[in-house]
Amino acid sequence: MTITYPFSAVVGLADLKLALLLNAVSPRVGGVLVRGEKGTAKSTIVRALAAQLPEVQVVAGCRFACDPAAPDLGCPDGPHEPGEQRAVRPAALVELPVGASEDRLVGSLDVERALTEGVKAFEPGLLAAAHRGVLYVDEVNLLHDHLVDLLLDAAALGTCYVERESVSVRHAARFLLVGTMNPEEGELRPQLLDRFGLTVEVRASRDPQERAEVIRRRLAFDADPEAFADRWRPAESELAGRIARARARLPEVRLPDARLRQISTVCAAFEVDGLRADLVTANAAIAHAAWHGRDRVTTEDVRAAARLALPHRRRRDPFDAPGLDEDLLDRLLDETSGDDDDEPPPGGGADPEISGPEPDAGSGADGDGGWQDPAAGTPRDERTAEREVRNGTDRPEPDAGAVEPDTGTGQPDPGAGQVAAMAAPYRVPRLEVPGVGEGAAGRRSRSRTPRGRAAGSRQPEGRLRDLHLTATLLAAAPHQRQRGRTGAGLRLRPEDLREVVREGREGNLVLFVVDASGSMAARRRMTAVKTAVLSLLLDAYQRRDKVGLVTFRGDSAGVTLPPTSSVEAGAARLRSLPTGGRTPLAAGLVTAAEVLRVERLRDPARRPLLVLVTDGRATAGGDVDRAADLLRGTASVVVDCEGGPVRLGLAVRLAARLGAALLPLDSLGELGSVVRDYRKVG
Ligand SMILES: [Zn+2]
Repeated sequence: MTITYPFSAVVGLADLKLALLLNAVSPRVGGVLVRGEKGTAKSTIVRALAAQLPEVQVVAGCRFACDPAAPDLGCPDGPHEPGEQRAVRPAALVELPVGASEDRLVGSLDVERALTEGVKAFEPGLLAAAHRGVLYVDEVNLLHDHLVDLLLDAAALGTCYVERESVSVRHAARFLLVGTMNPEEGELRPQLLDRFGLTVEVRASRDPQERAEVIRRRLAFDADPEAFADRWRPAESELAGRIARARARLPEVRLPDARLRQISTVCAAFEVDGLRADLVTANAAIAHAAWHGRDRVTTEDVRAAARLALPHRRRRDPFDAPGLDEDLLDRLLDETSGDDDDEPPPGGGADPEISGPEPDAGSGADGDGGWQDPAAGTPRDERTAEREVRNGTDRPEPDAGAVEPDTGTGQPDPGAGQVAAMAAPYRVPRLEVPGVGEGAAGRRSRSRTPRGRAAGSRQPEGRLRDLHLTATLLAAAPHQRQRGRTGAGLRLRPEDLREVVREGREGNLVLFVVDASGSMAARRRMTAVKTAVLSLLLDAYQRRDKVGLVTFRGDSAGVTLPPTSSVEAGAARLRSLPTGGRTPLAAGLVTAAEVLRVERLRDPARRPLLVLVTDGRATAGGDVDRAADLLRGTASVVVDCEGGPVRLGLAVRLAARLGAALLPLDSLGELGSVVRDYRKVG
């Protein structure tokens, strides 16, 4: 069963609302990461919650939204006196755009004025604007790592620090952090995943009835928008009131020892790393109890918290499907609910799982609060939804991108072709694009980057942020007498300032072009090819590349995987890749050139690396040399798949034509430790 929001049918909506509410009740829960495909109304739902958060009282005129009852002692606009004028405003909803600069996020400090005039000029950023409200980051997985770090640091500390060259500013920044991501477009690093308190999976409903209901509503809206809006207007004050009551109750909620042991048992059984999972689960369980008007955490609260706090913290490798084994969770909770020394909760039934309405659950105060669907008749308790989830009726289907255990059989392709199995991936040498790029941070090729080791100095192009002290002094020194310096003080002018040029590593676009034809003949050869590509894919994941996959067989070439950051998707496509037929090598090269052309337009800073996996033979399609010439100038590697005692050396010839490095397939796994420059190999 799906709960339908007016214009969308979304599975997992009940979880999302609960996760948002728990965060609204307790800031210690640590935010929500919403995982799901596009078109699931994630942002609409978050906006709806923000609109229903209780209003905040602020010191009038303070750009940092100080609470008059407890102003931030270090507020840059302070100090605030007790009698200062107040204002009431809605809780903020601030959106952080993926392309935002660091200054935009944390605020900007004018280092030039600080150094040359001695003035501390600070312009607040989005973190200040989000204080006491919601900070929403759509597609947080596409956000620059450095920004994600700053964001999560601020979220964890409740404070924003800005420091430039020993001039520093700090201010309070407590906000409900909500991030969304589409896992198909790339995962977050596990360390960052762990720092979101809760995660929720949402996806569009595939149920025809629910989809029809959405269309029906859309038609009703088009016919009479005002009547429709009236019918759907959320019970704002009701929900805001309930959040406020739960917040007030929060400090009173007790976590009995038995429940704490239960949390530890569950976290240990799910093999989560570290103790953060235990802490988040405990805080979320406490918030859940407060939300339901209880002053003591019950097993039901632990269950609700664990379902949201643990899925993204299980130890797993990048190719595991997300989610939590709910049967195991139920079993663990059942086994550990026996030592309930202090349950049942006051006012509740004997078994919280089947008890009636919550003590505080007045008429409209059900779990869905203001999101109640008036057309649905009886109010839905969110626990009903949870139970349905546990019964499996609402369990997410395996994701399209999820990887099934490899049985080696795969999908038979009626068109011809077999599916070769893959062996375990191995470590491959680092292939590198020559030169120095300016692409997104990663671990492959050299690049200019704000993070990284100092490699020189230059005059700043925009605002100075990374002072190169020695270079600045050297620039100022020759002019001291002429500027009238007589005593000890150095006379600095803006034009003296130098910033550090840093060099680090970037991620690249690794485009695999793989011969899947019958010229690979024996399935054993194809297994070796697939395993090699899988190993290179894993390497690309670790180096934070985008990957794409072009394959050719039979009469044509195709883009099997359009460039994406999702290595899972790549592995899945590779696994089910059929083999056989003729070898249209030229078509593969032409298709690769077209993919690279489009990607260059889309993301010009990301430099491509072409990895062509072939034995160099062509038995169909156009002229290979002409096609290869389309790719000249692209950094490329030919993985030579030719084996056996008699070799034609076609791949060698092709590599020369492309200006590519050559790596024999069988050597890939034997190159041992990371090779700095692949051009020395092969
Ligand atoms: Zn203030």
